[in-house]
Amino acid sequence: MGLLYKSTRSSRTAAASEAILKGLSEDGGLFVPERIPALDKTPRELGKMSYREVAYEVMKLYLTDFTEEELKSCIAGAYDEKFDTEAVAPLVEAEGVWFLELFHGKTIAFKDMALSILPYLMITAAKKNHVEKEIVILTATSGDTGKAAMAGFADVPGTKIIVFYPKNGVSSIQERQMVTQKGGNVKVVGIHGNFDDAQTGVKKLFSDRELEQELARAGYQFSSANSINIGRLVPQIVYYVYAYARLLSEGRIGDGEQINVTVPTGNFGNILAAYYAKQMGLPIGKLICASNENRVLFDFFSTGEYDKNREFILTSSPSMDILISSNLERLIYHISGDDAETTARLMEQLSVKGHYEITEEMRERLSDFYGGYAGEQETFEKIRSLYEDTGYVIDTHTAVAASVYDRYREETGDRTPAVIASTASPFKFARSVMTAIDPGYAEADWDDLSLTDELSRIANVEVPEAVKELRSAPVLHTTECEKDEMEAVVRQFLKL
Ligand SMILES: *Cc1c(COP(=O)(O)O)cnc(C)c1O
Repeated sequence: MGLLYKSTRSSRTAAASEAILKGLSEDGGLFVPERIPALDKTPRELGKMSYREVAYEVMKLYLTDFTEEELKSCIAGAYDEKFDTEAVAPLVEAEGVWFLELFHGKTIAFKDMALSILPYLMITAAKKNHVEKEIVILTATSGDTGKAAMAGFADVPGTKIIVFYPKNGVSSIQERQMVTQKGGNVKVVGIHGNFDDAQTGVKKLFSDRELEQELARAGYQFSSANSINIGRLVPQIVYYVYAYARLLSEGRIGDGEQINVTVPTGNFGNILAAYYAKQMGLPIGKLICASNENRVLFDFFSTGEYDKNREFILTSSPSMDILISSNLERLIYHISGDDAETTARLMEQLSVKGHYEITEEMRERLSDFYGGYAGEQETFEKIRSLYEDTGYVIDTHTAVAASVYDRYREETGDRTPAVIASTASPFKFARSVMTAIDPGYAEADWDDLSLTDELSRIANVEVPEAVKELRSAPVLHTTECEKDEMEAVVRQFLKL
């Protein structure tokens, strides 16, 4: 019997391919594996494998209704020359910490790790389930998901993709990357609101049964490329396993030795993947959850209360400017003892009152996690000091994590070998990064693309292709809308 997925809010179950196609369960819940499978290869064995091979060893345990051939072909299509390094996710040491660089894909953010494979998984899942309708990917983005999803789905036959981003909530390079996206099946829309507005709007469209029927009559069905899709979560488990196996095979750690993992967190997808890796038997000690000034997760880990009723702060790490961390629902489900009723009740409270509180028993099950946050000044300071000490330049999101990790080490004295998830190339946030290194760059008349040249010079790293191509790429998308006009935009694009 294969592994089934269960909704976090009811007894609804689905096979992996069905869960990937649907994205979200009809009851509004997220699909979670009914049990977390154990690794069936040792880290030593995995240490001899390529990224693709490790991907197969991990993903086969979760996507059990995919044949070996199907899965291997999805993996081969995803992790190819699109990545600018053979290692796919290389580890770089700086100040005795391992930075796991997850930004070597097409759009230079970690979203590529999952979104380069999701289209393949989805097309395969559609075939397996005899879906004849065209799949319409509907996505809310805080900046990086949108571009990575469009890059993955552009001109994929049988799909369309619509991306909503907060018009004033992304970096200028992020916006440029999105509005220059080619492909006859893509649509990008800037909404007058923040990321949570975009995400809430998308969720609403997903759960509109009338719209669903109308879509079906027109030959369409919605799916999601957001990190609530297990087709994104599962590929993210791979790089934690790969990183551990590499550290072991290179003699950086010993057999069975634990590592701590620090993850700059927004929607809680990346760190949840690390949690799953730990549950699979990977020797991970602490899961250090790093937030920026939108510290709702830090407060949750400190108090057991999740409260989104607070000011939304725009920071220099926009992909983490989130007050409703969708994937936290999966963790809530697991720490409640896989209790869909409790989870549904807490999520109802979140939606109605904007907050909920977990029980003492649930809190005890969070002991593997450490929550921390870094303000803007600490984040900038970390970018500068790391550059001055080592010459290595990290982006603002990674700097939030590195800063929180420093605090963790100071507070606890824990010297366990540490991996920090490095989630974006500094070139994607060149303005913030360069200003952090030298405030002079803020004053002088520097445009964003000249700043990437300066960054290349001082860091001695070539400007990535993804940034180079922005110089000449024409703007193809200019649609903006109010947050209550999202449905109208979708209707217009699909000619409903
Ligand atoms: C999306 C993103 C994050 C947050 O990841 P989650 O899985 O949403 O927690 C962090 N950094 C960057 C650069 C991102 O694009």
